[in-house]
Amino acid sequence: MRYSFVCKKSAESEKIKAQIIEKIKGSYDQKNPKVVFSIGGDGTVLDAVRKYLQIIDDIYIVAINTGSLGFYTEFLPENVDELINTLTEKKTFNSYPLLEIEANGEKEYALNEVTLSVHHHLFKGSVFIDEIFLMDVRANGICISTPSGSTAYNKSIGGAIMDTSVKAFQLALIAPFQTANQKMISPIVLSLGQEITIVPQNKYLDLTFDRVFISSENIAEIKVRLTNKTVKFLKNKGIKFAKRVNEKFIGKE
Ligand code: NAD
Repeated sequence: MRYSFVCKKSAESEKIKAQIIEKIKGSYDQKNPKVVFSIGGDGTVLDAVRKYLQIIDDIYIVAINTGSLGFYTEFLPENVDELINTLTEKKTFNSYPLLEIEANGEKEYALNEVTLSVHHHLFKGSVFIDEIFLMDVRANGICISTPSGSTAYNKSIGGAIMDTSVKAFQLALIAPFQTANQKMISPIVLSLGQEITIVPQNKYLDLTFDRVFISSENIAEIKVRLTNKTVKFLKNKGIKFAKRVNEKFIGKE
């Protein structure tokens, strides 16, 4: 088995990496792996997806948590032995879809979300769904998230948490400003096959795709859709969605 690592810079992560290298049968292949061990937190997972985006259909990620929250990282450092055994057995996966973002003829992808904002200014623009006008927006920004990304930035701005098996994506406003947007502050959930178009009025725009940030000028429109392209994560059989949400965000009274 060809394997590779994306590792958070920490002594614990390096220790786990060494343990895996000692136990795994196969060859280290940074360029063309079949399995990618992400050792760190959710940010490390996002880095791994970014790094292997070109071959994402052909790989799967094993996400081991040495970070704080760890929504994607189902495996714990103490599971390493068990984990190595799982690799040789019949495996099951969680498959999470990516968003595709098209602007000025360029395509980007995101596992969590894309955000649009304007540094220190109000974002102003119009939103269309399947080319039909929905609303004008004045807000700090717009966040469009996947089901697996719904528990990240989206959750902080009042978006709905989505079960990761739902094939849908959602748009939520970041700090909507007065008047028009007070009528429309609920997040909007759309299905696979639908398309959001945003026509910004601002000359300069800040865009994020998960951890990646870019500043752009003169973007005529931005199109966002959910794709059939997915990121495959080795599944840890024990953890169900509701349990994960409870453990990470709610906990016992
Ligand atoms: P970071 O180090 O600033 O941490 C962001 C936090 O978000 C971490 O605790 C991480 O575990 C958590 N997180 C990431 N993806 C998650 C998911 N799918 N479900 C639940 N929690 C998740 O940033 P990072 O580690 O580089 O992660 C980038 C992400 O940070 C972005 O994709 C965005 O979702 C999130 N973010 C959130 C806010 C906010 O909540 N106000 C603002 C900016 C970015």
